[in-house]
Amino acid sequence: MPDYRRPKHEVAAGDPNRDTTCPFCETPTTTEIVDQTFQHGALEISVTLPVRQCADCDEEFFDYVGERIRTEAVYYAYGLLSPWDIRAIRKRRRLSRRAFAEITGLGEATIKRWETGAVAQNRGYDRYLRLLDTDLGWSLLKKLARETTPAEQLASASGAGRFPHIPESQINSPRASAFRVAA
Ligand SMILES: [Zn+2]
Repeated sequence: MPDYRRPKHEVAAGDPNRDTTCPFCETPTTTEIVDQTFQHGALEISVTLPVRQCADCDEEFFDYVGERIRTEAVYYAYGLLSPWDIRAIRKRRRLSRRAFAEITGLGEATIKRWETGAVAQNRGYDRYLRLLDTDLGWSLLKKLARETTPAEQLASASGAGRFPHIPESQINSPRASAFRVAA
């Protein structure tokens, strides 16, 4: 299983040590790697991230690399996969969100919310995602997806994997039949 807890300074989206240009005046910036501690709810989170400095504007700022390091640190502090991890899990299977939704049984909109960080997955879904990122988990999942019943296929065709309401009168309650008196 891939190690999601990368070292704090290692970020796939960009090399924090690489200098960038100032977003205000486009002068090349210099970079200082700093330790920072910030508060998230009751948690105190420590990160190491790049601060860009523009000599022209006399400004110091974080760019997307720093923002990502901070965001990932918050997810990892809660023991959750980050939005980038979730996207990477899907990308490892080379699937669109729609195709990934079909195989996993997750909603396409839900996957999008997790990947964009709009909403964090709960712990149960987090573990589900880790399981399906293993070869064994993924092959079992694909088998399940192939074995969907006609009723399940109908339900997912009619609306985002939701089951239609089945009136109780149509269900043979096991309890009811167990106590049925033989005539
Ligand atoms: Zn500048």
